[in-house]
Amino acid sequence: MSKVLYEKDIQKEVLQEKKVAIVGYGSQGHAHALNLRESGYDVIVGLRPGKSQQKAEEDGFDVFPVAEAVQKADVVMILLPDEHQPTVFEESIKPNLQPGNAVAFAHGFNVHFSQIVPPSNVDVFLVAPKGPGHLVRRTFEDGSGVPSLYGVYQDVTGKCKEVALAYAQGIGSARAGVLETSFQEETETDLFGEQAVLCGGMTSLVKAGFETLTDAGYQPEVAYFECLHEMKLIVDLMYEGGLENVRYSISDTAQWGDFVSGPRVINDETKARMQEILNEIQSGAFAKGWVLENQANRPEFNAINAREKKLQVEQVGRELRELMPFVKQPLQEEQKNKQK
Ligand code: NDP
Ligand code: MG
Ligand code: MG
Repeated sequence: MSKVLYEKDIQKEVLQEKKVAIVGYGSQGHAHALNLRESGYDVIVGLRPGKSQQKAEEDGFDVFPVAEAVQKADVVMILLPDEHQPTVFEESIKPNLQPGNAVAFAHGFNVHFSQIVPPSNVDVFLVAPKGPGHLVRRTFEDGSGVPSLYGVYQDVTGKCKEVALAYAQGIGSARAGVLETSFQEETETDLFGEQAVLCGGMTSLVKAGFETLTDAGYQPEVAYFECLHEMKLIVDLMYEGGLENVRYSISDTAQWGDFVSGPRVINDETKARMQEILNEIQSGAFAKGWVLENQANRPEFNAINAREKKLQVEQVGRELRELMPFVKQPLQEEQKNKQK
C-alpha cells in the first residue's frame, strides 16, 4: 500500500518562514487562505478588483493586484479557474517570480497539458484537495479535513517536497491523509473521476433513473426523492464505511436488487465507454477540446448548461427543496443570491 502521511509525519517550519500568496478567492482560494492563516501561516491574497477582492478584504486579508502579491510572496498558489490561469500566469505571475520561489497548483491540468510552462528557476508543486473547496473550509472548521494529493514537478531548492507537505497540512489535509502523486497521475485521475464517476457518471445516472420513472407515469416528486434526494443518504453510508456499510443498512431485498441489477446498468459496455473516456484524457484530446471550447467563448458549454437547468428533475427539485429547509446549505443560499 502507498504511504499516506498524517500530522505527525509533516514538518511545519519550512513554510513558517515564508509568505504565501493565494491567487484567486473562489471555491478553493477562500478555503486555502483561511485555513492556512488559522494554521499560523503568513498569507496574502492576489486578485483583480471585484467581488472576490471585497470578500477577501472582509475576511481580513491584505489583498493586492496579482503581480504585486507575487512580488511580495515566496510561495504562489494559483487558484484561478483553470481556463484563466495561462493568461494571468504569462501577464502577472511569471514576470514577478524570483529564483527559488515556489509556484503551486491545486490541479495539474495546465502544467501537464503544457498550457503553462513554469520557468526553470522556481519550485513547482501541486496540492490537490480531493473535495470541493467549500468542504475544504467546512471540514477544517469542524476539526476534520479533506484528503489531498501532493506532487513535485520541479525542485530547485531541494525543499519543494517539504513545502508542499507543510502546505497540505496547513489547509487541514493531514488530518485526513496526504498522498504523493505526479502531475500526470493527479490530472488524469481527477479528470476521469469527475467525468466518469463523480460528476458526469452520477448526474447521468440520476437523470436516467428519474426519466425512466416519470416516462412510465410515476409522479415526478416520487422519482425525485427516489433517484436524487436519497442519493446523498446512501453516499454518506458509503463514505463512512464503504459498500459494506451501505449493504448493512439497506434491506436484504435492496441488497439482492443491488447484486442482480446494478451490473446490468453499469456493465462491460459502460466500462468500455469509461476506457474511451480515459483514453481521450490520456491522449490530450479532452484537454484540447476544452481549451478550444474556451477560446471560442464556450458555445457548447453554455447551450448545454441552459438546457440542463430546465430539466424536470431540476424544476421539481427546486420546489421540493423549498419545503425542506433542513437540506439547504449555505452554498445553495450563496448560489441563489448570485442568480438574483
Ligand atoms: P473558482 O472559479 O471558484 O475561483 C475563481 C476565483 O478566481 C475568483 O476569486 C475570481 O475572482 C478569480 N479570478 C478569475 N479570473 C481572474 C483573473 N483573470 N484575475 C484574477 N482573478 C481571477 O475556482 P476553483 O476554486 O473552482 O478552482 C481553482 C483551482 O482549484 C483550479 O485549478 C481547479 O481545478 C482546482 N480545484 C478546484 C476544486 C473545487 O472544488 N472547485 C477541487 C480541486 C481542485 P473574481 O471574483 O474577480 O471573478
Ligand atoms: Mg477537477
Ligand atoms: Mg477533483
